[in-house]
Amino acid sequence: MNKREIARIKRRLGYLHKRLTEIGPIMRGTIVLLGTRCGNPRCRCAKGEKHPQYYFSVSVKKKTKLMYLGKSRKVEAEKYSKNYELLWNIVEEMTLLNFELLKAKKALTLPRKVGKSRSGNKKNQPFNCSDAIAGSYL
Ligand SMILES: [Zn+2]
Repeated sequence: MNKREIARIKRRLGYLHKRLTEIGPIMRGTIVLLGTRCGNPRCRCAKGEKHPQYYFSVSVKKKTKLMYLGKSRKVEAEKYSKNYELLWNIVEEMTLLNFELLKAKKALTLPRKVGKSRSGNKKNQPFNCSDAIAGSYL
């Protein structure tokens, strides 16, 4: 990967990072349409023709939580739910970009301290046992 591509990826990541901070309210879950009974024994719902109502459904620790939405809350819940999807789309794209960026980095192994000196005088360097041990794990 050349420098231009790396710069492009970094710009894109910067943009995505900014988008992340601007997402707004997030809610995981789905909007479902459930049939309900109103309680009136003379209503058609008592005969099985239930009233369709929108609910928000979210699974938390393997239990489903339901919230009646109504019209105004339905609009908001849709927005929050959409933001959740947007968040994960951004996370997915950032994952792929960071993967490429990290892969493009030269895999450097840390330099061993043992036997190296800035003066170039190797003979008079004291042997450091802990460096040798640390170095063996690199
Ligand atoms: Zn009814």
